[in-house]
Amino acid sequence: MVQGLSTTKQNPLSSGEINFLWWFSQGSIMDVQVRRTLRGAWGMCDRHTAAWLTVEAAFRQGFMHGPAVMYTDLMERALRVFNVADRLSARRLARRLQSRSPCHVCAMGLGPNSEGYVPKDRLKVGRDLSQIRRFMEEASGFWHETLCGRCAESLAEGRCRMHLCADIEQGSLEGLEQNREMVRRIAHHIGRYHEAFRWESHGTDTAADRGALISAAGWCGGWRGLLSAYGIGQRTGGAE
Ligand SMILES: [Zn+2]
Ligand SMILES: [Zn+2]
Repeated sequence: MVQGLSTTKQNPLSSGEINFLWWFSQGSIMDVQVRRTLRGAWGMCDRHTAAWLTVEAAFRQGFMHGPAVMYTDLMERALRVFNVADRLSARRLARRLQSRSPCHVCAMGLGPNSEGYVPKDRLKVGRDLSQIRRFMEEASGFWHETLCGRCAESLAEGRCRMHLCADIEQGSLEGLEQNREMVRRIAHHIGRYHEAFRWESHGTDTAADRGALISAAGWCGGWRGLLSAYGIGQRTGGAE
């Protein structure tokens, strides 16, 4: 399966995926074992990262509290790994950034061809990309600068977690300091975004803070699914 190129017209979310992610956003994300798997996997695979954000945005009109909680936690962890990296070799840093668990949704056997019982209206909403696109559009100034050049097939020097690890494994370390700074910026802004869900901080988040949710998701899980959901075609895989 080509990961991450599936939230398009050619390969929309399956009814099984939407059913699962709908229940997931209703509360099964709070399950301790699920949280542990998500932590070990640094979130989800490329396809299901985009799928989760798409479904959350669609059903909650862009109110992304669940993803904000999870990605704030993951970016704080990433920052801790980078902060001790001065004492670690780059290869040990890369090992600490590797996934130790499979994607929770893939591990449930769910993919583009999975069937599940979903009321027709729910299926339609779950496949609606307009909310995630609006959310991404309004915050594009921030996340665009944090794109992974390998995922986006561009000259961008940023790297997602997986491609940073791959670069390190290949001995390419020039971008390490720049990527550490990028992780620090994402962690700072997603922390502010998370904070803005508190009643007393309501409305304090900026477009950059909201953009950091997209950046965090892309950094942890890869950018191809998100870019595909946003409508930016990829040169490989036949996305729109
Ligand atoms: Zn997956
Ligand atoms: Zn990447």
